[in-house]
Amino acid sequence: MTTKLILRKNEEHRLLSGHLWIFSNEIAGIEGEQIKGDIVELYSAGRQFLGQGFFNPSSLIIFRLLTRARDAITPEFWTERIRSAADYRSKIMGGQKSLRVVFGESDNLPGLIVDKYADVLSVQFLSAGMELNSDAVVAALRRVFNPAGIIARNDSSLRVLEGLEQTSGVLWGDVPTELEIEQDGIRFNVHPSAGQKTGFFFDQRENRRALAQYCAGKTLLDVFSYTGSFSMYALKNGAAKAVAVDSSEQALEAASCNARLNGVADRFSAVKADCFDFFSDENEKASGEKYDIIVLDPPALVKNKKHLQAGFRAYVKLNAAALSRLSPGGLLATSSCSHHLSPADFRVMLMQAAGKARKMVRLVEQRSQGRDHPVLVSMPETEYLKFAILSTLLS
Ligand code: SAH
Repeated sequence: MTTKLILRKNEEHRLLSGHLWIFSNEIAGIEGEQIKGDIVELYSAGRQFLGQGFFNPSSLIIFRLLTRARDAITPEFWTERIRSAADYRSKIMGGQKSLRVVFGESDNLPGLIVDKYADVLSVQFLSAGMELNSDAVVAALRRVFNPAGIIARNDSSLRVLEGLEQTSGVLWGDVPTELEIEQDGIRFNVHPSAGQKTGFFFDQRENRRALAQYCAGKTLLDVFSYTGSFSMYALKNGAAKAVAVDSSEQALEAASCNARLNGVADRFSAVKADCFDFFSDENEKASGEKYDIIVLDPPALVKNKKHLQAGFRAYVKLNAAALSRLSPGGLLATSSCSHHLSPADFRVMLMQAAGKARKMVRLVEQRSQGRDHPVLVSMPETEYLKFAILSTLLS
């Protein structure tokens, strides 16, 4: 018999208005076997059937809705869901060969992330339910995308919250140690098994494109560069030079490789440093070098709600330091990928950074994650990337 979760009174409203999660403190009772990752039925306190979804007693998110129907979850179910995610991207993203093809809850596939690197898929199973159904999901991915290989990059810390191990490995077919992808005519070398996250950050593609239009003839400082994607977009669009700063030797080597691949190595250089130290380094300050454009793309500095204040302060410090290093009238392209920093907090952070740096700052563009990472409007949790291009005003 299928396990039934019964909600407390009045706890169905969020789900009925389009959210997909139920938290453990919203449950009044559980009837039947409790198997982590199992597909169970959800009922209101008044015993109205609400849908089927993944059960995980080890997570605060005890239930993730898969469907509001009673139909059995068959192999065709997974194929249809994945096909629908692929169809959305063909419609919205044109002929992109390398992009995020599944973005979890926003594609009605809770806890499943799939990035496509030409004909290789890199997958993250971030919910116990997806993990338990991984064979069916892999079969559906093969049917829809017919890839040469599929690799699991299950090293995300989100898996810890689900009580899952952090493991990676090839799930199917052949996955080369390195491969090449193309974004807007720019070439990138990607290491699907060794790179950070799934190997490349597709979420900033449209933001790189937006910034690229201002780069001709300019100098760029690419802070938290990883493999230098912002630098490559800038240089291929006529930037005079780009300097990438990152603490990872491996990332900078990959960035230099990308510069060679794109024939821009003569205008590219890499600095291995902690980015906070880089800005506070007395030698750096003394050199007084200013840049026309600075990109800030740090990892999430607010890791959880408890660290909101400390993370917020770190963002202010970093942004103020970057503003101080801009040449007159320069541009700052700044991001936050912290889920716990809201778009409104991000704006307040920018205001404080401008104040700290004693700069008058205008908002040129405010952007978010790329269209292959759509935000599910009924689930604010699916919006995580904040990105702004700011222009400083002489005062
Ligand atoms: N801008 C990149 C993505 C950045 S990911 C792109 O467009 O692809 C964040 C990067 O920050 C990683 O490469 C990581 O190595 C680096 N990083 C994290 N903490 C750092 C620190 N304190 N100083 C320097 N680099 C850091």
